[in-house]
Amino acid sequence: MSKNKIKEQGYFDTSFSLSLEDRMTSLRAVSIAVIFYIIGYAAKLTVLFSDALNAKIPNIYIRIPTSLFTALALSVGLLIVSVNENNKKTPYLIALMDAIALFLLFDVLNSQGTDIITTSFLSVFMAFVGYNLINVFVTKRKQEFNEAKQTLNNLEQEVSNKKQTLNNTEQELDNVKQALSTLEQEKTEVEQQKAIIEQDLKERTCPHCDTTFTSKKALNPHIDKCKMNPKNIKN
Ligand SMILES: [Zn+2]
Repeated sequence: MSKNKIKEQGYFDTSFSLSLEDRMTSLRAVSIAVIFYIIGYAAKLTVLFSDALNAKIPNIYIRIPTSLFTALALSVGLLIVSVNENNKKTPYLIALMDAIALFLLFDVLNSQGTDIITTSFLSVFMAFVGYNLINVFVTKRKQEFNEAKQTLNNLEQEVSNKKQTLNNTEQELDNVKQALSTLEQEKTEVEQQKAIIEQDLKERTCPHCDTTFTSKKALNPHIDKCKMNPKNIKN
């Protein structure tokens, strides 16, 4: 199995081995919870708008869509503001308005007895959960963004390292080529020297008895007198 295949398998293994805890706290899970929260927020506002517009728009077919779309626009707008707003007070204001919306919806001021406690608790609790949910969503999003950025940085660093390694290898290859070329040049020179020496030796050696003399001049008188010279061999 090739290295890449092992890597791919490793990658898939990691992605499939996400634990239930990881899935429950993933950005996707938090996003789904936020969407539900926004739908609920929009529903609450729709009822409030519809109540407030009751006298002005008696026709239910106009009043309900008007209230619904206004509520949706406000709820989604609220989410966008809470995610992008850098002011730390904004989430508290949003939670406070959420609580007030629920107070009005439950008509807490006109409730009596234990109803006041139940509706007040529900209003405050839901606003608290909503506030924290949006906070978690923002934190998770930033965290995932930072992780992705970190991964990108690591990959860039890896690419840079590989490029450096490639450059080093190319440099080494050039050096080896250079050394090989020098060696080949030296070999040619040695062969040339060897040929010169052999030629010189041959010129100083008697072709009949293979005796080597100190110079060509010393060899010449010998050749005629050489006992192995066919001219000197008596039949
Ligand atoms: Zn000889």
